Amino acid sequence: MRRDRKVKIVATLGPASETYDTIRALVEAGADVFRLNMSHGDQADIGERHRIIREVEKDIGQPIGILADLQGPKLRVGVFKNGEEELSEGQTFRLDLDDAEGDATRVQLPHQEIFEALEPGSSLLVNDGKIRLRVQTCGNDFANCEVEVGGTISNRKGVNVPDVVLPVAALSDKDRKDLEFICRLGVDWLALSFVQRAADVAEARELAQGRAAILSKIEKPAAVTAFDEILAVSDGIMVARGDLGVELPVQNVPPIQKRLVRKCRAAAKPVIVATQMLESMIESPMPTRAEVSDVAAAIYEGADAVMLSAESAVGDYPIEAVSTMNNVAIEVESDPTYLEVTEASRGGPKQSVADGIVSAAREIAETADIKVICCYSESGKTALLVARERPRVPIIAMTSRVGTARRLCLSWGMHCVVTSEVDRFKTAVVNSARAAVGHGFAEPTDQLVVTAGVPFGQSGTTNILRVAPCDERLIIPADPE
Ligand code: PGA
Ligand code: MN
Repeated sequence: MRRDRKVKIVATLGPASETYDTIRALVEAGADVFRLNMSHGDQADIGERHRIIREVEKDIGQPIGILADLQGPKLRVGVFKNGEEELSEGQTFRLDLDDAEGDATRVQLPHQEIFEALEPGSSLLVNDGKIRLRVQTCGNDFANCEVEVGGTISNRKGVNVPDVVLPVAALSDKDRKDLEFICRLGVDWLALSFVQRAADVAEARELAQGRAAILSKIEKPAAVTAFDEILAVSDGIMVARGDLGVELPVQNVPPIQKRLVRKCRAAAKPVIVATQMLESMIESPMPTRAEVSDVAAAIYEGADAVMLSAESAVGDYPIEAVSTMNNVAIEVESDPTYLEVTEASRGGPKQSVADGIVSAAREIAETADIKVICCYSESGKTALLVARERPRVPIIAMTSRVGTARRLCLSWGMHCVVTSEVDRFKTAVVNSARAAVGHGFAEPTDQLVVTAGVPFGQSGTTNILRVAPCDERLIIPADPE
């Protein structure tokens, strides 16, 4: 199954999308990667969704990426005697460690380390930023706050503390258990929530032990500040606009999104733009014009992937939401302005032979009438360099590792093919020609470009480029090596 677009679609699974038929229909409509959100659903639900994805993958015969999103250190208040209370502007409200049920004057915030980090003047946001509290006085186990913006506060509502780098571990006990559970099942990407610093990524990487690639969600001001260091130690990035727009003024989010997307492309690492992309489609079969524009803008900016959250997890129209993204992507990518913008922003450090080869591959493919670039890539590194070039022609990533193929499902332009290990370049060319024709990218009369590293079996050695016919009978006699 080949896509008619380069940008990828990530769909979050949930109660609205957990059957075999729905998951398969989502793939057919355009979903390339599924997100399993560890904040919702227990391990049994998650395990079942994982099993079904792999079954669909087998039946369709095309790799599917799975991204497990760890909840991270999400702060929550305790519970109230009446379930909820109304806070009004100007009143004082106390947060403390006392586990007694809350009332209109106080509630528990069961995180000692937060009190230690707060200072008079710090702001606390409750319930997605709907309620705003400002700390007046605080100690090691309490904070007396003024209510700046009132509203209803209820049991276990989330708390954001935007202006403080919190001295909390990147992974909670639940996250560690979820990480081990999901890595045992076999997952391609682990997304880390509320990353604050580069060291947070190292901890997860150590626990994952190479079983999954690590994606950092940028949803805290501290992560925006430390972005370059975080990007350097991550395999991918999510611009997590939901919490980012709570922790920062919402108008700060679009310029941050643009900057982060650009930096990820320069670093040849995939970036997802996420949250509220088609929010109204939770309840409506039609998106708003503004939402369509937002999806299009992310694609114009150069995102590798756009994501659906509640739209596909709990909404009434999960398949329509994926189709909408698919249609928007096809339209944007055929716009000459898209090509112009994309090609004008080609860049990033070029130091290696592989950088030179992939850039030559693109140039040759676009100069002559070449239908596809086939890139042999065991670790996926060279394939990511090809994606960074943003060639006009399709890219086929050829790899013998199914894990590499699944991870690359998140990256711009990648059509992944799992192939047998090869030890001769001629075989690589023959396999590439077969894949190009077999997967509908070329006719036997066409030509393709193949890149590879010889000798095979060593990662990071891309050193050869060949223009070859797609008719494999023409390859063998012409290429005796
Ligand atoms: P979440 O992350 O859906 O796990 O909160 C995405 C976001 O905050 O945008
Ligand atoms: Mn979030």
